[in-house]
Amino acid sequence: MEGVKHKILVLSGKGGVGKSTVSCQLALALVLQGKKVGLLDVDLCGPSVPRIVGLQGRDVKKSNQGWIPVYPEEHKSLAVMSIGFLLPDPDAAVVWRGPKKTAMIKQFIEDVVWGELDYLIVDTPPGTSDEHIAVIESLKEHQPDGAVIVTTPQGVSISDVRKEISFCNKVGLPILGVVENMSGFICPNCSECTNIFSSEGGKLLSEELNIRFLGKIPIDPALTALQEGGGSFVSKFPDSQTLKAIQLFVSDL
Ligand code: ADP
Repeated sequence: MEGVKHKILVLSGKGGVGKSTVSCQLALALVLQGKKVGLLDVDLCGPSVPRIVGLQGRDVKKSNQGWIPVYPEEHKSLAVMSIGFLLPDPDAAVVWRGPKKTAMIKQFIEDVVWGELDYLIVDTPPGTSDEHIAVIESLKEHQPDGAVIVTTPQGVSISDVRKEISFCNKVGLPILGVVENMSGFICPNCSECTNIFSSEGGKLLSEELNIRFLGKIPIDPALTALQEGGGSFVSKFPDSQTLKAIQLFVSDL
């Protein structure tokens, strides 16, 4: 970790709100700005980073210094590490108790040859569980910058964000800001925005709790298709509202 300048955790109260999407696209947006970036997936039971970044089926190699992360063919400044690279069967469930998860995450932080990085983006599972405590404890002496919290705009997701905020306060992790994902659908034909999952929930919560609002990302079918395809991630960043939204909050971090 000595060579890693900034460490950012991406958290969400619920699954399916786009936490892995934001982690991956944030990492990519930073890469496209010329930064050296690490992307660490500590969602041990549901790793989705390898698929999103089109690295499914790739293996992690071991060297004398430790594990070598996986790099997309077309971009050597994005180093990716996930349990997905270590499992012989990607469909097999990981049924581990807390201590085993903690040991694995400690290894991800300490035994991976991350090298010199401008940013390490850590994608976490939803909620506040063993994985979160393990990653925060392992990063404690390396001074993490803080957490980006992802939510969708509707109340049911927002109420869980309050728990994430309380968790960050309890463990002393600074909150960098809130991102409202799936915030409206912009019609590709008429450009009108339909607020499918309500609107402004993340923004209002940020104002209420005096937390920085990093921005909104609309629902973008091109983004879903890109991530489902798992193809050439780096060269296919969607040239759309999503790109603009993510680049805005990257420049704000
Ligand atoms: P989480 O990590 O919170 O469980 P994911 O990032 O895996 O959520 O996203 C869940 C699904 O929603 C994925 O299929 C992803 O491609 C899709 N998705 C996430 N954000 C968006 C968005 N802004 N526009 C379109 N699809 C999205």
